[in-house]
Amino acid sequence: MPSGRVHNLINIGVYAGLAGLALYLHETRAVVVSPAQALTFTAGYAVGTFLLSPDLDLAEGNVDSKRHWGFLGALWVPYGLMFSHRGLSHTWVIGPLTRLLYLSVMVAIVWGALQFLLPHDALLTLRRTLDLRSLGAYVWSTGVAVPLLAGYYLSQWLHLTADGVRPDHGLRHGGRKLRGAARRWR
Ligand SMILES: [Zn+2]
Repeated sequence: MPSGRVHNLINIGVYAGLAGLALYLHETRAVVVSPAQALTFTAGYAVGTFLLSPDLDLAEGNVDSKRHWGFLGALWVPYGLMFSHRGLSHTWVIGPLTRLLYLSVMVAIVWGALQFLLPHDALLTLRRTLDLRSLGAYVWSTGVAVPLLAGYYLSQWLHLTADGVRPDHGLRHGGRKLRGAARRWR
């Protein structure tokens, strides 16, 4: 299994190749990539590579992507305890979704805590600064959610490919469980 640093190098290398290809296709007018699409794809890819790697399922390990979170890396320890290493977290569709869901729950908890801890004025300023509703509306109306998710998922799939995890990993995993249960019932 490659180390976190090797995973990062593979992803950076593939990104450089993809950027070159996109530039070439753009120059030849075969494909038109808008700056917003390129930027959101890059953002999703970078977040998936450096912050939300599948190896966050190692609770105790000195995981590269956990280190990138700084002191917030501790927030990922419960995730590592919930998922066994290279189990559901290392599947192609559900695995990346578990990290997005976990992150949403963490953000909701921190946001909820701030409602109680911050004084009213500070809370209003924070709400105005972040303006999550406008950001959500922008993402929805411009359709940049597609390249954002594409970048995120591609970064995850490269990690899984380097780990030697096949796309039907989860299905085979589940299938084994089902067959085991069926045998017990017989
Ligand atoms: Zn891995």
